[in-house]
Amino acid sequence: MAEIRIKNLHKRFADFTAVRDSSLLLEDGKFIVLLGPSGCGKTTTLRMIAGLEYPTSGQILLDGEDVTFLRPRQRDIAMVFQLFALYPHMGVRANLEFPLRNEGLSRTEIDRRIRDVAGILRIEHLLGQRIGGLAGGDRQRVALGRAIVRQPKAFLMDEPLGTLDAEFREVMCVELRKLHDRLKTTTVFVTHDQNEAMSLADTIVVMNKGEILQADDTDGIYNFPSCLFVAGFIGRPAMNLLPLAFGVTDGDGTARFQDAEVAIPTMRASASHAVLGVRPEHIDLLPAGQGVPARINYCEYFGSHWVADLESPLGTLKAVAPKDQRPVQGEAVGLRLHTERLVLFDRKTELLMASDSTLQHQPGMRHG
Ligand code: ATP
Repeated sequence: MAEIRIKNLHKRFADFTAVRDSSLLLEDGKFIVLLGPSGCGKTTTLRMIAGLEYPTSGQILLDGEDVTFLRPRQRDIAMVFQLFALYPHMGVRANLEFPLRNEGLSRTEIDRRIRDVAGILRIEHLLGQRIGGLAGGDRQRVALGRAIVRQPKAFLMDEPLGTLDAEFREVMCVELRKLHDRLKTTTVFVTHDQNEAMSLADTIVVMNKGEILQADDTDGIYNFPSCLFVAGFIGRPAMNLLPLAFGVTDGDGTARFQDAEVAIPTMRASASHAVLGVRPEHIDLLPAGQGVPARINYCEYFGSHWVADLESPLGTLKAVAPKDQRPVQGEAVGLRLHTERLVLFDRKTELLMASDSTLQHQPGMRHG
């Protein structure tokens, strides 16, 4: 078990900055997911925590001890590159033993560890079998066993599910999370897949262009994005981001658009340059004549619900409609925004602005 703290971590490759002044507390026993688009610095951050890359400046503390320039072996944390890299010509037991052999453990200790891991993963009956003959799910569990048998202080995983097809990914997400709930070993997991992040994480760390933009629980990331980038990156369909024409006035809490007004009774913030954020599922479609007038451009069916693309005085936006409320292309409708779920961003700084609803949530740290 370990608490990992990174302090003002900075990594330059020649004149390119891959990680910029990042500070973060990765709490003991938590499942932390580094999430962001390709090239945002996730892997570089992970490799610095592992000791495979040294920072240009900044510090890494493992349980309070400065490990910034220690070798990987001296850190007692396991980097899992490819969760599913098993040796197919060897048996299950030999695959599990492999990571332990170099550690100089006694035969009794190796047997004990393998017995424990096999029990946790329910693979005792497979120990005598060969990898080649195993069914897919059993194979994945053996692979997981190989990762956990070393009992490191923390796991670092770089897109370990990346090569799996969608169905297997879902199964393995559940397996990984169940395993974590049982072992409670601090885990740092890198992915660019927001579904994976949402289903696995206690804490999601959203990165972009080498910077940490928000570190928060899944609820905080989804409902109170720290900035426009996080708002647009998390959630499909994405949050509607609607520039206000005249801002929100302090007094009456009315958001004014070019041709429409939306009452936002709980919002106190005042801004002349604001962007209103509203998730598609927080907009109701009403009969024409009620709410804000809108017209349906097109709609997509997802089996359990519809997503309608709409033109309105607020701008072009998307709304989710229930399965039985089929939106019709070209139809005039009305929009009701769930005013208690709206968020406001400053158009200049792109950061979340305070509102009464956001004050109920302690926003995740931006830079530690
Ligand atoms: P991906 O999911 O594509 O791996 P990532 O968020 O993990 O993205 P990194 O691998 O950390 O991103 O890379 C961040 C940036 O640093 C990229 O632009 C990459 O090209 C650059 N970079 C990484 N390693 C090196 C290196 N050894 N030398 C030069 N540039 C590097």
